[in-house]
Amino acid sequence: MLRLISAAGLGIAFVISISAQAHTTFTVGTATAARGQKATGTIEVPAGSDAALSIPVAVFHGAKPGPVLALVAGSHGTEYTSIIALEKLIGMLNPAEISGTVIVVPLINIQSFEQKVPHLNPVDKKSMNRWYPGKMDGTQTDRASFLITKQVVEQCDHLIDLHGGDLDESLRPYSYWTKTGNENQDQISREMVLAFGLDHIIISADRPKDPQASRYLENTATVRGKPSITAEAGYAGAVETDDLNALVNGCLNVMRYIRSSNAGLTSSRE
Ligand SMILES: [Zn+2]
Repeated sequence: MLRLISAAGLGIAFVISISAQAHTTFTVGTATAARGQKATGTIEVPAGSDAALSIPVAVFHGAKPGPVLALVAGSHGTEYTSIIALEKLIGMLNPAEISGTVIVVPLINIQSFEQKVPHLNPVDKKSMNRWYPGKMDGTQTDRASFLITKQVVEQCDHLIDLHGGDLDESLRPYSYWTKTGNENQDQISREMVLAFGLDHIIISADRPKDPQASRYLENTATVRGKPSITAEAGYAGAVETDDLNALVNGCLNVMRYIRSSNAGLTSSRE
């Protein structure tokens, strides 16, 4: 590098072109999107003590640089409203209009969805929102959690985790705001949860603080300094239009808030 810079104009031009090129694409799993483009693919969880898993992902790498927002659902595969909300958003988002990057993971717990098993991953009987940050030498849920931590959480600046009432739960829409004690971060996540717009907000101050034992997906992002929230709508296997719209519009509202405030703390991909 020193040699390149000492080679005056030519060397500096070379360094700049490499740097610009590094930011022209964004990759999650097998999905690589060029700037201004959308790409779809999978996060491939290899087989271990149990079966492999392919988690679908869509990447919208906006025409203009900006913060990276991750939208995730389906760690409980029978909370249908949250899954369909992200499927709908995948069809709605236009990378040409986005400043920044949106990672969409609509369904983590494929076997829960396919076998209609609430709460747990039927492969290893674990909730897929309790084992973060995960590990590669564990069961399928541990390995999936580890790869989502690496490829989604660590690459984003903000995360929204969507849930709802499961097959045997009757829930009204609500969201969670985590108070960390970091004023700047809490201010941004507070604005995010207010922008999302659900009229009941649970304030949690008792989430684990250890990044190596973060347990929940949203908390995994929060303890890594990324202002993030959780939102829930839908219940008992039903998909009501009002609940669906609440989640879709909530995500879009947070995208507008992030763009208007330029709220990215780290803006790792600018
Ligand atoms: Zn859930």
